Amino acid sequence: MNLHEYQGKEILASFGVRIQRGLVAYNAKEAVDAAKQLTQETGTGWHVIKAQVHAGGRGKGGGVKLAKNLREVEEIAGSIIGMNLVTPQTSAEGKKVHKVLVAEDVYYPGDSETSEFYMSVLLNRAAGRNMIMYSTEGGMDIEEVAEKTPHLIFTEEINPSTGLLPFQARKIAFNLGLSGMAFKEMTKFVTNLYKAYVESDASLFEINPVLKTSDDKIMAVDAKVSIDDNALYRRKQYAEMRDLLEENPIEVEARAVGLNYVDLDGNVGCMVNGAGLAMATMDLIKMAGGEPANFLDVGGTADAKRVEEAFRIILKDPAVKCILINIFGGIVRCDRVAQGVVDAYKNMGDSIKVPIIVRLQGTNAELAKEIIDNSGLAVHSAVQFQEAADKVKEVLA
Ligand code: GDP
Ligand code: MN
Repeated sequence: MNLHEYQGKEILASFGVRIQRGLVAYNAKEAVDAAKQLTQETGTGWHVIKAQVHAGGRGKGGGVKLAKNLREVEEIAGSIIGMNLVTPQTSAEGKKVHKVLVAEDVYYPGDSETSEFYMSVLLNRAAGRNMIMYSTEGGMDIEEVAEKTPHLIFTEEINPSTGLLPFQARKIAFNLGLSGMAFKEMTKFVTNLYKAYVESDASLFEINPVLKTSDDKIMAVDAKVSIDDNALYRRKQYAEMRDLLEENPIEVEARAVGLNYVDLDGNVGCMVNGAGLAMATMDLIKMAGGEPANFLDVGGTADAKRVEEAFRIILKDPAVKCILINIFGGIVRCDRVAQGVVDAYKNMGDSIKVPIIVRLQGTNAELAKEIIDNSGLAVHSAVQFQEAADKVKEVLA
């Protein structure tokens, strides 16, 4: 689950990480009030208005702007809220902005003593360990740094049995070229950032930029945070941060009925039991010349009700040209799934306008095929994987 910048910063602050402070506003008037309050609390004269959407590269798309007085705060907030922000990380239509973060300006005007670093904490899957990635080249496109000057990106792996050790935090501060007060600040920053990552069950904390101010403070100016979905049951305070407006509406609906659904760009809807088989089915669709419209794992209980729910979810995607159902009957019997498909189809009446290919394999597969074939419905059955692929090709042609 991804979070907004302001939510990520809230978590960071709760673990003692210094952040660029800010307040959320939903309209221009609230932004002005927020700016006034921030000036009172921090003494800041200028403010940065930052679009809160789940996408990076907001600065490049015009979603982060400096306001030098309250009139500018009002103007800029008014123009950013409601806009469709297009950044290098969004689709061409962009993302609608519903709120902004009004933040204190921390770059003290006319000051050349500030530096921007990059730092992230994430899981190194190959090593099976968490790692801290960091670079002196912060503030810009880290992907570009990785491509053109990979030697400027450092990594520090963390042993899970000891956690981050003090010497590692010092090594990071040293490699970033810091000394004195900034060095101490950085070791504290790294230590608390890592604590925040572990104790919030995050899969990513990316801070770009980490700022060294001219008075040697180290702070998080941005925060891109993902919390592991599988841990949300024990992180209720973070689960509540979910912003449904930022998520794909079909995926939100699927989650509500307990279906594991991921929306994709293609034209062949798929309904499969088991994640591994779902991945293999997506490959099969590609090999048949189609593109999967979704990933959908219906799980172990593919009864009529569940099949019907899955049908409804798949059909919400207007790009779907046909549906491939690929179910392996292990514990669930194929004939029951087949009956489920037939019942769901009948229940849904006219709403299914695309061809359906059903491939059932495993317990009672032959019986299942008979049920489908004798149903009189426009459902194609297949027993072999290849047969199913050929039928997909046929209906797409
Ligand atoms: P992103 O573009 O989505 O990564 O958003 P960021 O939060 O990283 O902001 C983009 C850029 O805005 C940063 O790299 C900074 O250069 C700039 N920025 C952020 N906060 C301030 C600030 O307080 N003052 C000034 N002058 N610039 C800022
Ligand atoms: Mn950033």
